Amino acid sequence: MSPDPQTSLATAATAATAATTNTIAAKAATPSTLGLDALFNNPVFAGGIGLAGLGAAAAFGRRALISGASLLRRQMLVNVEISKRDPSYPWVLQWLAQPREETGFIAKRLTRMRKLAVSTTTRSINPGGPAGEGRIHADFRVQPGYGRHIIRHKPGVYIAVNREKASTTNTSTGEPHETLTLTLLWPHRHVLGEVFTEAHALATSFQEGKTVVYCARRMEWQPLGKPRLKRKLASVILGEGVKERIVGDVKEFLAAQQWYTDRGVPYRRGYLLYGPPGTGKTSFIQALAGELDYSVAMVNLSEVGITDDLLAQLLTQLPEKSLLLLEDVDAAFQNRRQRDSDGYTGNTVTFSGLLNALDGLAAGEDRIAFLTTNHIDRLDPALIRPGRVDMMMRIGEATRYQAAEMWRRYYGDIDKDGRGCKRFLESLEELGLFGQSKDPNVPARHTSTAAIQGLFQFNKGDMEGAINMAEGLIPREFGP
Ligand code: ADP
Repeated sequence: MSPDPQTSLATAATAATAATTNTIAAKAATPSTLGLDALFNNPVFAGGIGLAGLGAAAAFGRRALISGASLLRRQMLVNVEISKRDPSYPWVLQWLAQPREETGFIAKRLTRMRKLAVSTTTRSINPGGPAGEGRIHADFRVQPGYGRHIIRHKPGVYIAVNREKASTTNTSTGEPHETLTLTLLWPHRHVLGEVFTEAHALATSFQEGKTVVYCARRMEWQPLGKPRLKRKLASVILGEGVKERIVGDVKEFLAAQQWYTDRGVPYRRGYLLYGPPGTGKTSFIQALAGELDYSVAMVNLSEVGITDDLLAQLLTQLPEKSLLLLEDVDAAFQNRRQRDSDGYTGNTVTFSGLLNALDGLAAGEDRIAFLTTNHIDRLDPALIRPGRVDMMMRIGEATRYQAAEMWRRYYGDIDKDGRGCKRFLESLEELGLFGQSKDPNVPARHTSTAAIQGLFQFNKGDMEGAINMAEGLIPREFGP
């Protein structure tokens, strides 16, 4: 049966009304939908959202890129950080400063060092000599400056270098910490071994035939100028047999490491050289270092600023294969006296500070200490004890033997028959310079080997000049 058309129309109208009502009701139930539509239809808002999305995507992309790059860096690159405190630091710096010939256009631009630093060392030329008096020689060495550099080690192998000064400082020296970072591609990592070997070989080649003298500067050992040409032992003329006895003892000590190890005795030996100034004590120690292929680590105890703590610290970090030279050790005893009587508290080493430092000399490696003084009478017997001082030797005023030996070294080639030497020695004898005189009116006196050397240097190649000026060897206190 078909439905009544009127009823159908009414139903349709009702349905339509209901649908409209439902739509309105639905719209009324979610008013925000209308707002969002409006917002999204708003071009400014939609553009903003788009931009924000793009920004987020860019940030995400950037972070992903950074993480990717750092991952890649970790996987592809190898970094080596060298601290300034490491002995290899100056070697590598020197190695980096080596001139490198670049041919390619890109390589030339890539590896051109734009930030350079200069390190200058000075030394006086022949300070005692008349010609060289007061002349200072300066050496300038160019090094990579702070910042980033690229060097080409060999074809296809580049090394990125970053020399940086840290914001923290070394508490003992007050100097900023410094690092050198070398970066290479992972496949080139084996090159690092070559770099260090070459840098060490280069540093050694600079020192070949030379003696490095270290001195205490700002709580650290630092080379005093450039390495000096080795002084020949034969050029230092000590009393008969003196040099041979010390050299023999040192060599015996160096050959006896096992003996010390087996008995658990600290492997160290101390020598005390005493006598007036200018007799060759320091020169002998430097020549001995050259003979042994050692360096010299020198501290002058009379220097203000050398305190007990500093001395102890320096002695624990002695450069390897070095002779320790403690000059003017009497200063430590002087300080004790001043401290006792006047309550003196200076910025200097004390007696106990010196003994502690000597007793604490690191075991393991050989430690050879030379102590020098011009005033043996001021020393305390506590210092002369095995382990602190094992051998004492007076290096005194010039003897007849020394004067003759020095003459031979300077004039041996022109004074073939030795007559010049004989006349020279006679004139020194007449002047009472060997501690006695036949003439009762001439006081017995002495001269130093340093003074004789000065006389010979002034009269280079001129024997007569040296003989005629022998009177100049009379010490001032005996002078007119
Ligand atoms: P010291 O340490 O005893 O005060 P130095 O070793 O400093 O003496 O000598 C000062 C200068 O005199 C040096 O240039 C050194 O070459 C020279 N001299 C002193 N004594 C001798 C010596 N016995 N043999 C060779 N040179 C000497």
